[in-house]
Amino acid sequence: DAMYDEECDYLFKAVLTGDSGVGKSNLLSRFAKDEFRLDSKPTIGVEFAYRNIRVRDKFIKAQIWDTAGQERFKAITSSYYRGALGALLVYDITRRSSFENVRAWLVELREFGGEDMVVILVGNKSDLVESREVEEKEGKEFAEKEGLCFMETSALKNLNVEQVFLQMITKIFEITS
Ligand code: GDP
Ligand code: MG
Repeated sequence: DAMYDEECDYLFKAVLTGDSGVGKSNLLSRFAKDEFRLDSKPTIGVEFAYRNIRVRDKFIKAQIWDTAGQERFKAITSSYYRGALGALLVYDITRRSSFENVRAWLVELREFGGEDMVVILVGNKSDLVESREVEEKEGKEFAEKEGLCFMETSALKNLNVEQVFLQMITKIFEITS
């Protein structure tokens, strides 16, 4: 709301990363606008969306950046990560290669992101149980080893989407306040 804009206590920047097609843009549109798109329309350039959230007694304006179709390694410039306090590192549970690439995305995040950036590993498309190629346990174990939070989501079915963004924002809040 406009009121929140004026009275917001904190502005947090966070970014979405992970391979193309894993569902980053749909996670963001679910969170920001409660919308889902069946067709994949890679956008040009960088886009971001805002949402106002209340954590305890504080009003937080979360600015979430979307890579918008430039998900090749090193293609995303450092300005994308600059000032980001959090990241959702997304893979597709039905595409093994997107999980294998998580390691490289993490290297990039750690290179360009701040030292105590909150990173959440997100296994998206949990609704596609029949074509699952990555077990939930694998995601969880990798996250534990790397000190990340972990959650499986479905942007399509709107499962855990709100939770994953709120977890990231709450953790940022705890670190920065
Ligand atoms: P991005 O390239 O990472 O931004 O991915 P998109 O958000 O554009 O999504 C890529 C494709 O996956 C689109 O066809 C979406 O409709 C589909 N998709 C995204 N999230 C989900 C999900 O949770 N479940 C299913 N079944 N499909 C999804
Ligand atoms: Mg996209």
